Amino acid sequence: MNIADRLSCIRPSATLAVNAKALELKEQGRQIVSLAIGEPDFPTPVHICAAAKKAIDEGFTRYTAVPGIPELRRAVGTYYKRCYDLEPPVESILVSNGGKHSLFNYFQALLNPGDEVIIPAPYWLSYPDMVMLAGGVPISLPVSAKEGFRLTPEKLAQALTPKTRLFILNAPSNPTGVSYSQEELDALVDCCIKKGVYVASDEIYDRIVYAPARAISAIRLWQSCPELVTVFNGCAKSFSMTGWRVGYCVGHPHLIKAMDTLQGQSTSNVCSIAQKAAVAALEGSYDCIAEMTAAFQRRRDLALNILSSWKGVICPKPEGAFYLFADMSCYFGKNAIANSSDLCTYFLEKAGVALVPGAPFGDDACVRFSYAVADEVLEQALKSMEGVLPE
Ligand code: PLP
Repeated sequence: MNIADRLSCIRPSATLAVNAKALELKEQGRQIVSLAIGEPDFPTPVHICAAAKKAIDEGFTRYTAVPGIPELRRAVGTYYKRCYDLEPPVESILVSNGGKHSLFNYFQALLNPGDEVIIPAPYWLSYPDMVMLAGGVPISLPVSAKEGFRLTPEKLAQALTPKTRLFILNAPSNPTGVSYSQEELDALVDCCIKKGVYVASDEIYDRIVYAPARAISAIRLWQSCPELVTVFNGCAKSFSMTGWRVGYCVGHPHLIKAMDTLQGQSTSNVCSIAQKAAVAALEGSYDCIAEMTAAFQRRRDLALNILSSWKGVICPKPEGAFYLFADMSCYFGKNAIANSSDLCTYFLEKAGVALVPGAPFGDDACVRFSYAVADEVLEQALKSMEGVLPE
């Protein structure tokens, strides 16, 4: 069977591939611990689930407006008012099937064939594939572990060319956990605005930050330059709602309309019940986020403490999200390990720990650890790895 040429540029998700291999070993009777997970290990808070049950009981089970029910679009506005003291109007907000879908719609609506898109590496592994599917050309801008994975405005300015159409910023970052101060984020975005380059600010982890780092957003820059700046977020990570599939973005009403039309001809509205749950999440108490974040911070410290004794491993301290991204290239050349994929296979087979190789995130020197697991599971997994560190 011939599959469309368009799909030849994209690859299956590396995270899913790791999970499949881990599952295979489990089926063979091996004890496997997965640190490859990209979602909070907490249940969706009770008040959010209750809103979904109520929606079912009240028969709120039909098609809704494509860009989201007005109540939810207003709740997104409320979220920004509560968190960043600025309330975007409903016509600048689109609700989609997860943050991933929001980004997909955006690339499709914005990019023309050949448009160059600057993506700082390490990056969330779906960006390049989504950009290519829209005909764009991803341009990786490497920022190493030695640089703390932090992009500077100077480095970004040097990378921008007349062909650059778009810059993707993700803070806190998956996979590095790096975040910025509001001033640093503003400087990066300003650098693009000055050159007429579009900015997509993916803020899906904005609430999961560890003091002294603070939540940051490009929402004010969106307000001052809505033509160029679009802000992405969703309920998945902050409210432990990964399966509900609710994402949203704030952009120029003209762009939002185009994305709405695209969504109307593809997926239509997000599940009506999930939309009601999202209203409860965004309008309810945010104490659940604080509790989850405190647990993540404790686990980050626990994991970093263990990793810091592994000679030659470089792991910048994450300020948000729930991942560690460690440069482990010191082990390359030992035990026939040549790259990040070999190293992950080694740890899976020898220690029974599943990790994601850095290569698909744009940095083959590194490996991604998720600490969205119970403290004792995390500690046990890292101790098992410690017992077999390549020599
Ligand atoms: N952006 C980043 C950086 C992510 O890590 C993820 C999910 O892992 C997403 C966007 C998409 O999240 P969702 O589609 O689950 O809302």
